[in-house]
Amino acid sequence: MQQLLRFEKDKLLSSLSTFGIGGPAKYFIEVSDIKDLQELILFCSQEKLAYLIIGKGSNCLFDDRGFDGLVILNKIHFCTFLNDCSVHVGSGFSFSLLGAQTARKGLSGLEFASGIPATVGGAVFMNAGANGKETKDHLVSVDYITEEGELICIPKEDLAFSYRFSSFQKRKGAIVGATFTLLPSLEARQKQLQIIDYRTQTQPYKDKSVGCIFRNPEAPLSAGALIEKSGLKGFAVGGAEVSCMHANFIVNKANATAQDVLTLASEVKKVVLEKMQVNLEMEVRVIPYQIGV
Ligand SMILES: Cc1cc2nc3c(=O)[nH]c(=O)nc-3n(C[C@H](O)[C@H](O)[C@H](O)COP(=O)(O)OP(=O)(O)OC[C@H]3O[C@@H](n4cnc5c(N)ncnc54)[C@H](O)[C@@H]3O)c2cc1C
Repeated sequence: MQQLLRFEKDKLLSSLSTFGIGGPAKYFIEVSDIKDLQELILFCSQEKLAYLIIGKGSNCLFDDRGFDGLVILNKIHFCTFLNDCSVHVGSGFSFSLLGAQTARKGLSGLEFASGIPATVGGAVFMNAGANGKETKDHLVSVDYITEEGELICIPKEDLAFSYRFSSFQKRKGAIVGATFTLLPSLEARQKQLQIIDYRTQTQPYKDKSVGCIFRNPEAPLSAGALIEKSGLKGFAVGGAEVSCMHANFIVNKANATAQDVLTLASEVKKVVLEKMQVNLEMEVRVIPYQIGV
């Protein structure tokens, strides 16, 4: 198979995660074509080769030993307006750029995406959200490659979404595209600019992180406020530190390892439980060295 010829070996996952953490992937490939990805997934299923599809790695904590399988970097980029309000976009397209481009066109619904360093595929998979909005809100359908390599289009009604959850987290395959229908709005661009401005003032964009480490508990509680009230801003283990700017961010200050991050997160959990009686749950995807096939 053609794809095999282009497999790279021992690619460092630290270069593929916004955390800058992770050992080598046994095999690595970049894919920009849907047909190639179909073949590749079918190949992996038939050969029982463990694989992981990633976007910008902005929600992945890779293992210090790396990944014992194939890491597929999704570069499926396209963005086509189907009519004045609907857009069909490749899963490797920047979610942040999509938010800015649609707002610039006077379309409302994805302003919150601006500044989230994700691909569209990663945002759909995680049902990424901010400012009271979620990826699923204006989603119409998702193009998906099944484990058998079949390309299907799934209407939103046949999918399940909740806070940072989509039913894609429970199946094997790849998101390759998504269609959104947005609403005309004269305020969209201004709202998007306000959102990005607020983000850069309140989140540690200059540091390496994966965004919020913990899920927010039931409203009105916020994980960041609970961690801050527990006096944990600046608390560090090895090279990993609770951000002094936003307490729900763990930042890689000095060559942190995955183990540093996990130890720090577990200390934070323990202290917040003791002091605030709230049990925090991880939001970041902790990617194990080996996954079942
Ligand atoms: C500075 C910063 C700010 C952030 N702010 C927010 C925020 O406001 N709201 C929010 O929700 N998140 C936020 N995040 C977290 C992160 O950006 C989101 O979770 C995002 O959805 C991850 O997208 P990604 O493309 O980077 O996915 P990755 O991290 O590459 O992957 C995440 C998971 O999705 C799976 N996946 C990715 N692409 C595909 C695909 N095409 N098909 C199947 N599975 C796939 C991966 O296997 C993995 O399990 C932030 C992160 C950072 C660093």
